[in-house]
Amino acid sequence: MAIHLNLSQATIREKRLKSIVGYQGTIKDLAEQSQSGCLKNATRGFSQATNCNSGCAQGYLSTITDAAIVNHGPIGCAGDVAGANAGFQWGQSIRDWNQRNVRIINTNMSEKAVVFGGDQILKEGILKAYERFKPKAIFVTTSCASGIIGDDIESTIKKAEAEIGIPVVPVFCEGFRSQIWASGFDAAFHALLTRIVKPAEKKRPELVNVINFAGSGRAVITEIFGRLGLVPQFGIPYSNIEEISRWSEAAATISICGTLGSYMGNGLEQNFGVPYVTALQPHGISGFDDWLTKLGETVGKEKEVEEYLAEQKVLAAPELEEIKFKLKGKKVVVGMGPSFAHNYIRFLEDLGMEVVWGFSWHYDAKHDHGGCPSCTVELTKTDKDIPVSVSDQQNHEVINLLSKVKPDIFIGRHPGMSVWATKMGIPAIMVSDEYSAFGYQGTIEFGHRIIDALTNNSLAVNLSKRINLPYTEWWLEQDPFSFQEQKNKKRESENKKNVAVR
Ligand code: SF4
Repeated sequence: MAIHLNLSQATIREKRLKSIVGYQGTIKDLAEQSQSGCLKNATRGFSQATNCNSGCAQGYLSTITDAAIVNHGPIGCAGDVAGANAGFQWGQSIRDWNQRNVRIINTNMSEKAVVFGGDQILKEGILKAYERFKPKAIFVTTSCASGIIGDDIESTIKKAEAEIGIPVVPVFCEGFRSQIWASGFDAAFHALLTRIVKPAEKKRPELVNVINFAGSGRAVITEIFGRLGLVPQFGIPYSNIEEISRWSEAAATISICGTLGSYMGNGLEQNFGVPYVTALQPHGISGFDDWLTKLGETVGKEKEVEEYLAEQKVLAAPELEEIKFKLKGKKVVVGMGPSFAHNYIRFLEDLGMEVVWGFSWHYDAKHDHGGCPSCTVELTKTDKDIPVSVSDQQNHEVINLLSKVKPDIFIGRHPGMSVWATKMGIPAIMVSDEYSAFGYQGTIEFGHRIIDALTNNSLAVNLSKRINLPYTEWWLEQDPFSFQEQKNKKRESENKKNVAVR
């Protein structure tokens, strides 16, 4: 799908990628419905709270080292700044930087602003952010309130920009625009592609943009790329405005996460001529092989990649065999964002584990390059058809399902869910670091982490003895997906088979 930089707003995922937040069935059915264009979202008659794309956009942009954010909305919309700040502190700490807080200002829209308009407080907020932080750019993130009352954000921003002389960039990410919080990544990238990234003055054939989150794997990637004659440029987090403006100079862009990188990678390819590498995620051996091989093909380093991978295979083989032996047949439920979920399902099955259910917090029927996500297609190539569902962190569905399938372990990526598995007595691993299970060494380390979690499960067991779940017996006896509309669910009988007590 074309990424239009002449528009002020990114098209939301529901429209651009036919993304959904409700589905229950199997991976093969999900892929088939995506490829045939028939996939529809199953709405819910009951929903728990979930995340908002505004928080996602401002959290991601707030990690740019010399930028500031003005969140134009009621103070409650800044509630997740604490989480963004914790992540930002961690990213600074692993870089040995002096730590500071994120630079986010909220305009504190009140009833008065909602009735009479919030343009004036927005302008004051921008001027205050400039005075307080002296940033190189200011990003203005919108909220439901500013969107509903129709504040003329763009005109206010233009006036402020003329006064302070730095880019002041709107980021349209009102919570009601999209049910999918990852639309916030796209809104953030749209702001960068439209106002910050500049056409390349020179091309650098050795440079590869690496889109990631905190970027803990920088040293490992720098070493691997170095052997291939390549230089990684990590971002967007912990980059500055000047560095981001030159992302157009690179020979290619690659991402640690397909959900995260799709908009920026394809936007750079379509509008700045920087090829985007669409591959499996580099988690687990087959994912890493595919990721690096496709990068090699894109930048003309096929031979170097082949040699490197052959060497790694020999080195890792004995330990991997041992790990697979210990993990064989262990039952696991996965719950993550869509690209991570489907890549981790592949990776854990490769380790010999039995993935008994896969939750993804949304699902993109296609990515911006046009095809069904490769990680989903990859899972259809084996005989096994894994039960999956799509659920925007609807904990009532996840907890109900966990209570029925009783896996040996839950592997998630978000604390808001992983903690519940632990409270239920199920050992859990939270993959908060996106470079967990990266490459050969990372795969071995993660294998040992699973073995450790399975071997010492006393935290989960002891917690479960002391904690009462907030759900009633009645709910736990129901079909986990009974609040989802039936049209996109597997037939009741098939569902019972998949969710049967194991
Ligand atoms: S933007 Fe809307 S959905 Fe997001 S926190 Fe504010 S009110 Fe809630």
